[in-house]
Amino acid sequence: MRASWHEKFAESPDVLKSARCQQTVVPVLDMEIGGDEFITMAGPCSVETEFQLMATANHVRRVGARILRGGAFKPRSSPYAFQGLGLEGLKMLARARDESGLAIITEVMQEDDVPMVAEYADILQIGTRNMENYSLLEAASRSGRPVLLKRGMVATVAEWFRSAQCILDHGNPNVILCERGIRTFETAMRNTFDVAAITLLKEISHLPVIADPSHAAGHRELVPALARTAVAGGADGLLVEVHPNPDKAWSDGEQSLDFAGFDAMMDGLSTWLAARTQQLERRDAPGARPMEAVG
Ligand code: PEP
Ligand code: MN
Repeated sequence: MRASWHEKFAESPDVLKSARCQQTVVPVLDMEIGGDEFITMAGPCSVETEFQLMATANHVRRVGARILRGGAFKPRSSPYAFQGLGLEGLKMLARARDESGLAIITEVMQEDDVPMVAEYADILQIGTRNMENYSLLEAASRSGRPVLLKRGMVATVAEWFRSAQCILDHGNPNVILCERGIRTFETAMRNTFDVAAITLLKEISHLPVIADPSHAAGHRELVPALARTAVAGGADGLLVEVHPNPDKAWSDGEQSLDFAGFDAMMDGLSTWLAARTQQLERRDAPGARPMEAVG
């Protein structure tokens, strides 16, 4: 890694690769995020009903997802939109974990809620609107649960790294970065998917990187192609919204895949994931030269 990156991101030294740490692997149940396995996290934007959640959990597990997503506390763009089921939603997620064996990721929005959410979730999600909420970041760090830190919708990579540094500084090494699209002058899509940031992160940071093509695109028909782009860009996994009946979803239906759409996305990813595996094997082959030595 070039020395100039260390200068550019001098305020978040622990986020960068070093001689001591080239890749962090975050353990969650029986899996490792940031390791060789590509990890798909899938599920509804919001937890709505027992049926909706269980049907989705069972379906996405069958097709290869390892982690169930679902919001119980929802940060919404409109104050009048559905705000989530709260504790009841967390309990449904825990039941879904017991029945499906999937790990659970869910958002925590407030410092005071951290102990409660940490009791039910395997990974705490910090949403885009809270990326710079430092008291929340500290509390999430101290919970001891892995933290998935979404990129603020108007955050530079340097700002994102400073938030990750804050979580690391408070004693939690299990930080996962999630690119979910940023706001630009382009309005055709909900956000602009910054795939270059994914590639940069993999080049200079040891933290695992997850791509969220759903919030980046805002339109379900774009999600499979963005997911493929994320794999090609080097992401360690995906966070994708899936709903049994997206047109009836209580939030983010427009960008949610239905079950057939999820199957098609996973099917379309398989050749890309095979190429990723080959690349990892080449990297690990005896005699393979580290990147630094090339050129
Ligand atoms: C979500 O994952 O449903 C969500 C609200 O994401 P973001 O914080 O990226 O908007
Ligand atoms: Mn959503």
